[in-house]
Amino acid sequence: MKIILQNHNFVYEMQTLARFFFPKEKIVFIDNTNAIENDELVVYSILDEQREEVSVKTNFMPQQIQGYAAQRVNDEDKKDPEAYQKAIKETAKMSFYKAATKMTGTDLPWGILTGIRPVKKVTAFLDKGYTDEQITLVMKNKYSAKKDKVQLALEVAKRQQKILKKVSPIHIGIYIGIPFCPSRCAYCSFISTSFKRAKMMVEPYLEALIDEIWYTKEIIEKIGWKPSSIYIGGGTPTSLTASQLDQLLKVVGKAFEVGNEIEFTLEAGRPDTIDTHKLAVMKKHHVNRISINPQTMNSQTLEKIGRNHSPDEVIKAFELARSEGFDHINADIIAGLPDETFSMYAHTLEEVQKLKPESITAHTMSIKRSAKLHDQKDILLTQQAQQVNKMVNYTQQFMKQHALYPYYMYRQKNMLGNFENVGYCKTGFEGSYNIQIMEEKHSIIAMGCGGVTKIFNAHNNQISRIFNVKEVKDYISRIEEMKQRKNMIYQYIKGSD
Ligand code: SF4
Repeated sequence: MKIILQNHNFVYEMQTLARFFFPKEKIVFIDNTNAIENDELVVYSILDEQREEVSVKTNFMPQQIQGYAAQRVNDEDKKDPEAYQKAIKETAKMSFYKAATKMTGTDLPWGILTGIRPVKKVTAFLDKGYTDEQITLVMKNKYSAKKDKVQLALEVAKRQQKILKKVSPIHIGIYIGIPFCPSRCAYCSFISTSFKRAKMMVEPYLEALIDEIWYTKEIIEKIGWKPSSIYIGGGTPTSLTASQLDQLLKVVGKAFEVGNEIEFTLEAGRPDTIDTHKLAVMKKHHVNRISINPQTMNSQTLEKIGRNHSPDEVIKAFELARSEGFDHINADIIAGLPDETFSMYAHTLEEVQKLKPESITAHTMSIKRSAKLHDQKDILLTQQAQQVNKMVNYTQQFMKQHALYPYYMYRQKNMLGNFENVGYCKTGFEGSYNIQIMEEKHSIIAMGCGGVTKIFNAHNNQISRIFNVKEVKDYISRIEEMKQRKNMIYQYIKGSD
């Protein structure tokens, strides 16, 4: 498929939408019609600067009849250059969206919203005093977002507002990354290295990490911030041995004065890495929320996606964690895994619910370029796209029936069907770190390789980011540089209160 943009250059926006509507097409942007071959699908997106509208036409629909969609920029937006550019961009997206809907006969649940935080938009309208009805209407007219999705976002936004009210600006979240896993899952796009392969690097990594933790603690203290949530993720932190975990958690406890009042999460994601010793160590160091992630309770899928554990090991891990006194366990699941039918997915929901987790995070399969499964992208898109809609809708009903409510939500690139990931929980079991990271109203200080520190400046409502390197060996060899980068925090917080 070839796309020609005239008088505008919103390549990224057009490409993102085109991928959802034409997942199997190779999308190429060209400047002139000489590069077009016979019978090729060509889409023109044309900005008419005088009329301030963007139209889309194509040679495809049907038998060479042109498709057309246009959207005018409203008078209010014309007054401010930045708002005007944004409005033109949204107009270009909307016109492309309308034409693509006509061409393919498909629709997207979130309309032209392709960003990862749709709840932020709804929250902004709530802050302006809009009613639910007004928000639903604006989200429909402006973005073509469907009513059920807006309702979901509203429910999440209202629950989040209650939690965020309790967290003052001096409260920050702490993230610590452990980039090792027992094996690599086929859909994984995170920074993780097989524990066996990277065994020699684990001790030097911990040493560097502990160095960064102590350095960062000083900065946090000088600024007067108070950690209100700590999240140890990865990778799979429970890939570490019990004594390595003990060493790390002891440092975290001292550096950030961890007591029972802090929400302290540790991802024990893979059930095959959990044992009583590690659970006892976590308990001793005040970890009060863990995640045990089945992803699916179908053994043949677990094998296909390289998880190397059985559904029984998930059940066993829950039992062990309960017997060690963990009373907040989250479980992650995925809709749209390879070859999974709707009934297989429903089976996962039933089986996971029997374990009575306090929260369940329901993901929609996303096929990132860096994942092993990317090779099977086309097959997955054909097989699973139809089913995912049913799975996602059923998840919402299922959770409601079991008194689990949506409390945070985000979207990823390349998700099947352009759906969302939703965190559901029992009332009172909202993970505040998850809300903080999504709503970007508090700073998150990240340590470890691949960590992204986000500094929220309340003065201008902006987020500034500081990145750590992604590779384990780079992190170890460049730890001094990672520490120095943390000094940028001082610069970013100027005028923030
Ligand atoms: S456990 Fe998580 S981080 Fe590790 S390989 Fe699987 S998906 Fe990636």
